Amino acid sequence: MYIKNNRIADIVPEVTEWRRWLHRHPELLFDLPETARFVAARLREIGVDEIHENVAETGVVAIINGATDGPSIGLRADMDALPIEEISGVEHASETPGNMHACGHDGHSAMLLGAAKVLAETRNFAGKAVLIFQPAEEGGVGAKAMMDSGLFGRLGLNEIYGMHNMPNMAVGEFGLCDGPTLAATDFFYIDIEGVGGHASQPHKCVDPLAAANAIYNGFQSIITRNTDPAKNGLISITAMQAGEANNVIPLTASIKGTVRNLHEDTRDIIERRMHEIVDGVAKSHGVKAVLQYERLCPVTVNHSDQVARAAEAAVKVVGEEKVDREQPARLGGEDFSYMLQEHPGAIIFIGNGDSAGLHHPEYDFNDEAIPYGIAYWAKLVEDRLPLAQ
Ligand SMILES: [Zn+2]
Ligand SMILES: [Zn+2]
Repeated sequence: MYIKNNRIADIVPEVTEWRRWLHRHPELLFDLPETARFVAARLREIGVDEIHENVAETGVVAIINGATDGPSIGLRADMDALPIEEISGVEHASETPGNMHACGHDGHSAMLLGAAKVLAETRNFAGKAVLIFQPAEEGGVGAKAMMDSGLFGRLGLNEIYGMHNMPNMAVGEFGLCDGPTLAATDFFYIDIEGVGGHASQPHKCVDPLAAANAIYNGFQSIITRNTDPAKNGLISITAMQAGEANNVIPLTASIKGTVRNLHEDTRDIIERRMHEIVDGVAKSHGVKAVLQYERLCPVTVNHSDQVARAAEAAVKVVGEEKVDREQPARLGGEDFSYMLQEHPGAIIFIGNGDSAGLHHPEYDFNDEAIPYGIAYWAKLVEDRLPLAQ
C-alpha cells in the first residue's frame, strides 16, 4: 500500500520535528507571525513554485506545478492554537503560557508541509497543487477571510479538500461522510437588566436571575417542540453570570452559549424562537433583555463526488477496511464550510488514536498519524490530477 512508500517514511522524522516546533509555539487566531514565518520558510526550502504570504493577514498559500499543465486542487490545513493552559506533560509542550495546540492544527500544518515536500520532489501529476495554510479556524472564521481575499478565484481552484484529526479513531484509519458532516456553529450572548436591591425586599426589585432562569428553561422547549425531530440541533448554555452576595438581588445577569445544527432551516427556527423567548421573558418579568446572536459558520457539507474521490485515495493508502465512508455527522463546527460553499470538495477525518479529546488541556496530536496524512494528500493529488498515460 501507498503508506509503505519509502520516500514518505524517510521524511517522517523531519516532519515530526516540524510538528513539535509548531506545538511548542502556539499562536492564536489571525495573530500567527512565528507560525506563518515557519511555514513559509519550510515551503521555500522545499522549493515550491509560488508562495503567497499575508493572505487574510497571516495565511500562507503555496503552489506546486505538476509535470504538465492541468486543473488545480486545493489542500487546506489550519495553523492556529487555542487559549488553553497545556497540562499534557509532553517534552515538546507549549512554551507560551495560556496557549496550546489543543486541536491538532500543528499536526495538520506539518502533514501538509510533508505532502508539499513529497509533491515538489515527485511532480507526478498534471496541474497545480495549491497548499492552503489558513489562520483563525478557532472562532475567527479565517477560512472566510481567505475566500474573501479573492486569491482562490484568481487561481481557479477546481476542487478543495480538508483534513482534521480525530481522537478515539485508530491511527491509520480514515472516516468521512457525504452531505452534512459538521454543524453550523453560532454563538449567542444575552444581557439582562433588572432592578437590584436588598434580598429581603424582592417586591421592590426586578430580579434578573428569575428572568435568566425563565430564559434557560424556555430555550429547552425549542429543541423538543419547535424543530423537526429528524433534523434536530442543539442549544448549549455554557455560562450564566449574576450576583455575588447572599443578601443582594443583583442588577444584571448574563448568559452565553452556542447553537449547533446540521440543517440551515433548523438554524433559522432556533434563532427566531430564541429571540421570541427572550423578548417574551423580558415582557413578563419586566426586565430589559437583549439577545445578540452571531452566526459563525454554516453547515460543513461534503460534496458527493469528492467524498468518493477522497475515500478512494484513502483506500489506496490504508486499504478498504480502514476507511469508513459513512461516519455519522458531528456537531463540532468547521469554517472549512465556507470553502465548500464556493468549491466542490470534502473534509476527511484521520485517526489520532487513544488521545485526550480535542480542546482538552491534555490533548496532543499523535505523530504516528503523520505518514498517513502525508500519504493521503500526495495520493489525492496524483489521483485527481493524473498524468496522461
Ligand atoms: Zn478546534
Ligand atoms: Zn480543529
